[in-house]
Amino acid sequence: MSYSFISPRDEKELKEEISAPGSFTMSGGTDLLVKIRMGKISPQKIVSTSKISTLHFIDENDDEIVIGSTITHAELLEYKPLREAFPVLFDAIYTIGSPQIRNRGTLVGNVMNASPAGDGLLALYLLDAKIEISNGDAVNIDEFVVSPGRTILPKGEYVKSIHIPKSKWDHHYFEKVGQRNSMTISIVSIGWLIKCGSEAIENLRIAFGSVAPTILRLKDVEKFSKGKKIDEKFVHVVSDMVKERVNPIDDVRGSAQYRKKLCSNLMYRMVEEGIKC
Ligand SMILES: Cc1cc2nc3c(=O)[nH]c(=O)nc-3n(C[C@H](O)[C@H](O)[C@H](O)COP(=O)(O)OP(=O)(O)OC[C@H]3O[C@@H](n4cnc5c(N)ncnc54)[C@H](O)[C@@H]3O)c2cc1C
Repeated sequence: MSYSFISPRDEKELKEEISAPGSFTMSGGTDLLVKIRMGKISPQKIVSTSKISTLHFIDENDDEIVIGSTITHAELLEYKPLREAFPVLFDAIYTIGSPQIRNRGTLVGNVMNASPAGDGLLALYLLDAKIEISNGDAVNIDEFVVSPGRTILPKGEYVKSIHIPKSKWDHHYFEKVGQRNSMTISIVSIGWLIKCGSEAIENLRIAFGSVAPTILRLKDVEKFSKGKKIDEKFVHVVSDMVKERVNPIDDVRGSAQYRKKLCSNLMYRMVEEGIKC
């Protein structure tokens, strides 16, 4: 296997280089290089974004945080406003791989990998993130990701950044169930955001990983939960709803049946965490 490696200095050169057939854009390379080594892809050219300064930024304003495509997981974990604004994203990124993987891997790479087990991706679904493409389009994350490994990114384009709108939540939660505590791909992952009203849920967002071809947001469960008080009875009902809606597969990490059971059991964390609303 042989391919050329190019590291453009600006976005104009990047665009020209990735337009050629057989070219692959690379951010950290933690997914791409593994796929090459496993023989899943055979690029003619790898185009690295790492030297392009206009893609290396984190911007914050009153409405959103914008993350440039070459920002690594480790850099995000060190950016304090992210932890304050989006604890669910911080917690999800914190579980990705190892320090080495987080030092190279990026959130944009995690999105483009489009894995149903993508940890950063799950948090971005919860936060209604938008993906900014080099052609100027901004696409909602749940429309951008199509199926495992597939997105709607047009050929010859690249992802510039991720826009995450700020929104106020009383409770952020992320949990990954794996075969061990670190360096693990999830058997099932779950995240939620809860805004409490006066003694009842005002707003809930909930998503699962590794239970469907893409991250699964359960919007009908979210709608059902509005105005409900979090107690054993409520959790019992929603855990049954969750079990009916997730559609996992059997694989080396766990059976479909086990995953369904896990998803419904994880709903009881709402009570165990002592969430009062
Ligand atoms: C040992 C190991 C452990 C891991 N653990 C986890 C884990 O716990 N959780 C998890 O979610 N993931 C995990 N991963 C997967 C991976 O590390 C993450 O998905 C990471 O975020 C990928 O980022 P990257 O920058 O390295 O992507 P890259 O490998 O550079 O790219 C990934 C894909 O995105 C494309 N791409 C990259 N940048 C752009 C761009 N700007 N525009 C368009 N396309 C682009 C590439 O062509 C490729 O298809 C693990 C990987 C390894 C090797």
